Amino acid sequence: MRAVVYEAFGGPMEVREVPDPPVPAGGAVIRVEATGVCRSDWHGWQGHDPDIRAFPHVPGHELAGVVEAVGDGVARWRPGDRVTVPFVCACGRCASCASGDQQVCEEQTQPGFSHWGSFAELVAIGAADVNLVGLPDGTPYPTAAALGCRFATAYRAVLARGRAAPGEWVAVHGCGGVGLSAVMIAVAAGARVVAVDIAEGALALARELGAAAAVDASSGDAAAAVREITGGGAHVSLDALGGPATARASVEGLRRRGRHVQVGLLPPAAGRADLPMERVIALELEILGSHGMAAHAYGPMLELVRAGTLRPDALVGRIVGLADAPAALAGMGTGTGGTAGMTVVVPR
Ligand SMILES: [Zn+2]
Ligand SMILES: [Zn+2]
Repeated sequence: MRAVVYEAFGGPMEVREVPDPPVPAGGAVIRVEATGVCRSDWHGWQGHDPDIRAFPHVPGHELAGVVEAVGDGVARWRPGDRVTVPFVCACGRCASCASGDQQVCEEQTQPGFSHWGSFAELVAIGAADVNLVGLPDGTPYPTAAALGCRFATAYRAVLARGRAAPGEWVAVHGCGGVGLSAVMIAVAAGARVVAVDIAEGALALARELGAAAAVDASSGDAAAAVREITGGGAHVSLDALGGPATARASVEGLRRRGRHVQVGLLPPAAGRADLPMERVIALELEILGSHGMAAHAYGPMLELVRAGTLRPDALVGRIVGLADAPAALAGMGTGTGGTAGMTVVVPR
């Protein structure tokens, strides 16, 4: 198969012929029809993810495609099925999986990190019965590619972790892929959204998606601006970028008993967030992490997509071939990526 490959962290990426992935027992090989370019892949390429241990490596984890083959023991899927997968692929056997929390599986795998990913014609996924999610008829693959990472991640962060309710204020710091998804989901849930970013284009997109207010973080104290707009602070606030400054601004922009959700990856290499714990205590704030979403939890979200209430297709900016994937991935290190929308790679 053809795939995007790199041989060293931060090293050159190229498209070349590599062996097809074997079909795992209990797993499946998916023919990739579309795969999103995500900042997490950039972190991986930079060497920020300890799961990447061997070279050559193939990045990519936000995918949609068609089941090409299934391994022994797979009951629910067969070749030809249209599917996506959560970026956290679960084992289906550990205590966390048994309690329904596959998103924090103790034996999790992640395509593009723990093994070769989806910037390729084919990708292998373990425990297919646990991890594959069937796509509704008519969902285009580029739209579906967003469901595996940014959209599902934002959905769970806003609703399950942040518990955003109608009429509440939700602040979204960082309006890239996850952030814009969060804006759309919070608006659909009846919340009022304050979008925060440093890029005018990203803020304009957030406005188009229904944000009630936009704050340019480059022109002063973003947390103070959020507190001002929301009459004392947001009920829920997300760091959707993943940075010490955005994490801190998110916590500082909360009202009493507010909930901060850390959803943007914040690896140690990006710096440690200096959070005001005195404020966490005095205001009884909640600091929550959010890590993708289990495959079994996709149903209600897919129903909202099918009904047109949620429009992940509105997040797709451009579609490129495999040859343009390296440049698109390398470009994730600069800016928020929000202004152009999501880049989707169709591996042809
Ligand atoms: Zn991602
Ligand atoms: Zn597990």
